[in-house]
Amino acid sequence: MVQAKYLTGDSAAINEFIDQFDVFLLDCDGVLWSGDHLFEGIPETLEMLRSRGKRVVFVTNNSTKSRPDYQKKLTAMGIPSNVEEIFASAYSSAIYISRILALPAPKNKVFVIGESGIESELRTENVPFIGGTDPALQRDMTPEDFKGLADGSLLDPDVGIVLAGLDFHINYLKLSLGFQYLQRGAKFLATNLDSTLPMNHTFFPGAGSISIPLIHMSGQQPTALGKPSQAMMDAIEGKFKLDRARTCMVGDRLNTDIQFGIEGKLGGTLAVLTGVSRKEDWEAEGAEVVPAHYVDTLSDLRGSTA
Ligand SMILES: [Mg+2]
Repeated sequence: MVQAKYLTGDSAAINEFIDQFDVFLLDCDGVLWSGDHLFEGIPETLEMLRSRGKRVVFVTNNSTKSRPDYQKKLTAMGIPSNVEEIFASAYSSAIYISRILALPAPKNKVFVIGESGIESELRTENVPFIGGTDPALQRDMTPEDFKGLADGSLLDPDVGIVLAGLDFHINYLKLSLGFQYLQRGAKFLATNLDSTLPMNHTFFPGAGSISIPLIHMSGQQPTALGKPSQAMMDAIEGKFKLDRARTCMVGDRLNTDIQFGIEGKLGGTLAVLTGVSRKEDWEAEGAEVVPAHYVDTLSDLRGSTA
C-alpha cells in the first residue's frame, strides 16, 4: 500500500520535496483560507516558494468568481498575484465551450445555472448565454411558466448547452428550464461536482449539489470542467506549458485535488489538513486516493529554511 510521507517539522525532507518541482498548483479554499479567514503564514509561504524560483498557479473549483474577482480576493488577503496565475472552473468551462466544444452559431448559446463569475468568463470568450444572474428567473413558477415550458414558447431555440455551477439562487424555475433544454438535446456541462463548499469553518452545499437534481431528472451525466476532470488539467498544461513531472498539486480534498494530481500523472501531490480531508481518510484500509506527501498546514513548508 502507498504511504503518504509526513513533512511537517522535517526540514531536510521539506527541502528535498520543494526541489523536486518547478510548479505548484494550489487549491485555494481549505489550503490558503477558509471563507474569509486566511491561514497563518500563507503569504510568507508563497513568497518563499517564489523566491526559490517556483511558479504558483491558483487552481480552484469555485465557479462563483471570475479570475479578476479571484485576484481581488487574493489581493485583499495580502497575497500578491497576477490574473494569469489564476485558473478557476468558470474559466475552464468557458475555454472548453469556446475552444474545444466550439458549437456552430447560433446553436452555441448557453443556459447558465450559476453566478456572475461564469457569466463574465463566458463574456470574455464571446460565448452567448442566458439565465445566470438574470433577476427575471429569481421567482416562483406561475401557471403560465408551466404552460410555456410544456409548449416550448418560454424556451430559447438557440440554447445548445446547459452549464451548471454553484448557484446561490437556485429554484424550481431554473431547474425546469435546464431540464427542458436537456430534454431537447442540449449538452450538459458542470463547472465542477464538489458536494460541499467549505466556508466559515463549516460546510455548505457545493456546485455538485446543484447538478444532482438535473442528473436525477434527466438521467444524464454532465461533463465536469473542474478538478478532478482531466479536461481542466489539459487546459492548465496548454496554458502554462508545464512539465507534469516537475509539477505538484496541493490541496485539502482527496477526491478532487489529490485525485486530480494523480490522474494527471503529476510528479507529486501534497495534502494539507486545514480543509476537508483527514489523514484517517487516506490511512483507512482500502483508501483509493493517497497523497504522496502531507503537512498539517501549507505554511509548514517554511520549515525548510530553518
Ligand atoms: Mg479546497
